[in-house]
Amino acid sequence: MRRPLVMGNWKLNGNKTMVAELIKGLEAELNGVEGVDVAIAPPVMYLDLAEQLLGKAESKIILGAQNVDVNLSGAFTGDISPDMLKDFGATHIIIGHSERREYHEESDEFVAKKFAFLKENGLVPVLCIGESDAQNEAGETVAVCARQLDAVINTQGVEALNGAVIAYEPIWAIGTGKAATADDAQRIHAAIRAHIAEKSEEVAKNVVIQYGGSVKPENAEAYFAQPDIDGALVGGAALIADSFAAIAKAAAKAKN
Ligand code: PEP
Repeated sequence: MRRPLVMGNWKLNGNKTMVAELIKGLEAELNGVEGVDVAIAPPVMYLDLAEQLLGKAESKIILGAQNVDVNLSGAFTGDISPDMLKDFGATHIIIGHSERREYHEESDEFVAKKFAFLKENGLVPVLCIGESDAQNEAGETVAVCARQLDAVINTQGVEALNGAVIAYEPIWAIGTGKAATADDAQRIHAAIRAHIAEKSEEVAKNVVIQYGGSVKPENAEAYFAQPDIDGALVGGAALIADSFAAIAKAAAKAKN
């Protein structure tokens, strides 16, 4: 039985006041909500504050981060290691987000390296995959997702996906308000799971696959009603406590 995960990617947003208010709001809104894992990935600068606030509230919210480097220490200016993330209680680390693939030219191979490094260091990779608008139009969606996944599977074995999270995020749906339909998202999720099942049915059955791309309280329920959609990676709506909490509640309701 897969447990749904709703994760908020705060991206490059926030300040100390916003972090405190958002966490306070989430604590209030999510009180008593069971059957869903909820995670937040603030900018790394605010992990310390978030860890303190979540600790004070004895929160069940999981702390995550938006990136990691592939080195543990040394002359790597500006980078953050898995040990540093662990030091501040972050466990679920987003890698391969399309914004990092595009703006930082991160290749499939580099993302796979991050995946391996996170696992070696006891952290949970949240591996983002997904196609561009042009690739979608050309009918290449499944092939692109398979290629991005194979960068991990072919170097680390399919078992590496055990305990990890996959986030299917069509790039054209991120931050655009143009979300995939629930039926289309389900079709791609099923294809991703089938691709993994070619190597291991067991791994495919157990791996959590989130949908991401303009998920809002208004459309969340339709996604979570789909059998292969196990939660959501949320950008814009994760910055508003009641919207993000409503998405988490929709997952809890649909999956239990
Ligand atoms: C994201 O950036 O991962 C994302 C899904 O953003 P949004 O929800 O704003 O589309």
